[in-house]
Amino acid sequence: TPIIQIKNLMKTYKLGGETVHALNNVSLEIKKGEFLAIIGPSGSGKSTLMNMIGCLDRPESGEYLLDGKEIGKMNDNQLATIRNQKIGFIFQNFNLLTKLTALENVELPLLYGGVSAKARREMSLEGLKKVGLAERAGHLPSQLSGGQQQRVAIARALVGNPAILLADEPTGALDSKTSKEILQVMKQLNELGHTIILITHDLEIAKQAGRMVSIQDGQLLENGGELVGHL
Ligand code: ADP
Ligand code: ADP
Repeated sequence: TPIIQIKNLMKTYKLGGETVHALNNVSLEIKKGEFLAIIGPSGSGKSTLMNMIGCLDRPESGEYLLDGKEIGKMNDNQLATIRNQKIGFIFQNFNLLTKLTALENVELPLLYGGVSAKARREMSLEGLKKVGLAERAGHLPSQLSGGQQQRVAIARALVGNPAILLADEPTGALDSKTSKEILQVMKQLNELGHTIILITHDLEIAKQAGRMVSIQDGQLLENGGELVGHL
């Protein structure tokens, strides 16, 4: 069964007198081990869909099964727990803590899991190795390039062994050469078996994924549809 099963998902915002269908009857299945790009222009519903997939929000109608579990029926605590277990987040601006070293940043998700200090250190070094940054373990974020900081953030997203890596415009703050390197890291992780969902407005970036869907005015189209031509 797919790791993600989304069916007829709706999300509306009421703003003044107006109703915005941020997600309009969205259905999407993602298999374990896929590398999926979700592409759409600004305002198309990408963040809303990311918040939904990342268990930061619940569908108002429709169904979302994550690893077979029904997200819509969970309370806030259950939602937080499943988010921590199943999703590794990667953000445009890295979101690293500036006073912690690369290694300490990667250790963060393990702090609350009852993992011993020694195991935390070993797992985090392993994570930094996976993204080719083991020799920078003791550096602060300010001592690293943007691409290196994003590698640290990717290692942090990976370290708890989540079912899914969810990347929101991961190359949005990087130059094109560094963006290609980060995409290469993500491709390698995908080849190692990690399921990756990449959210972007950039077609060149989206094309690197194994599969592409596009979103426009809250509606999802498989293969990017005709919309890709207009982006
Ligand atoms: P994207 O991430 O693709 O830019 P969003 O998911 O942020 O798109 O937004 C989708 C639509 O929902 C837009 O029309 C946006 O203006 C609207 N929207 C998003 N968040 C809110 C909110 N909190 N209140 C009202 N409207 C919102
Ligand atoms: P944007 O794409 O609008 O710049 P971000 O990428 O910073 O926003 O965040 C996207 C969503 O993820 C937001 O709804 C935010 O609240 C949430 N978020 C940000 N940081 C974290 C985090 N460390 N853990 C979980 N959720 C987060």
